Amino acid sequence: MRPVVAIDGPAGSGKSTLARSLGEVLGLDVLDTGAMYRAATLRVIAVMGEDLPTPVGESRDDSWKLHVAEVVRECVIDVDSRVRLDGLDVTEDIRTDRVDQVVSIVASIPVLREDLVSRQRQWIYAHGGGVVEGRDIGTVVYPDADLKVYLTASIESRAERRAIEKAIGEKAEIESMIDRRDKLDMSRATGALPSIEMTALAASGKENNIMVIDSTEHNADDVLNMVLSRLEHIGIYRFSKTEVPEHGVEKHPHEEVPG
Ligand code: C5P
Repeated sequence: MRPVVAIDGPAGSGKSTLARSLGEVLGLDVLDTGAMYRAATLRVIAVMGEDLPTPVGESRDDSWKLHVAEVVRECVIDVDSRVRLDGLDVTEDIRTDRVDQVVSIVASIPVLREDLVSRQRQWIYAHGGGVVEGRDIGTVVYPDADLKVYLTASIESRAERRAIEKAIGEKAEIESMIDRRDKLDMSRATGALPSIEMTALAASGKENNIMVIDSTEHNADDVLNMVLSRLEHIGIYRFSKTEVPEHGVEKHPHEEVPG
């Protein structure tokens, strides 16, 4: 089995960019578990339409959760460079505002999470390791990951990145949407996104395989090099002998993954 690198963090923190670069440098496959929840949500919206309760109405009757989980259990979800739902390419469809609004509600259903977590573990075994990004990878999906990165950034800079990605200027709207999603993702009963304080506490006991990075003041290359430096420290990556980065933030020369 090759290494497993877990990357968790809130929306817009730069997880996907880091995961893609790490996958390239380390020669590992990459799994975006958020895309799995989004594809599942797309199907749930198609089946349930406006019948999906908001989190506020949750206590009335929980039978909808079992129905939603059943709908998702039937779906074949493939996440690669493209995202396929029952063979149909939904790569663009999973990034709409409607999916953004509903995904955290769907993702809060414990039995649905069990299903997707089990598929994510199967992916890791089938690919013999990989870079896996999400909210609960280091805590639930693969707690034995060789490195667990908790990536965060200020809500302002996360909203700004998303606004640039979506090529729209509505930063305030995006900010309130990701703030709402963060709160739901952090407060659910299972697989909740840990707080930065909790992760920092865990990191203080096991410095080597957990790292917390606030990327507000760092660009993508800085973050990549911080992670590569840590991977070198734990023997998973080697910088070339001529260009060892000082303070872990200089440009990385790509080299081999030992072992
Ligand atoms: O990563 P992304 O922002 O695309 O994830 C969309 C949503 O999927 C998150 O807001 C969260 O509700 C859910 N998710 C999750 N657990 C994961 C990955 C994503 O609950 N491991």
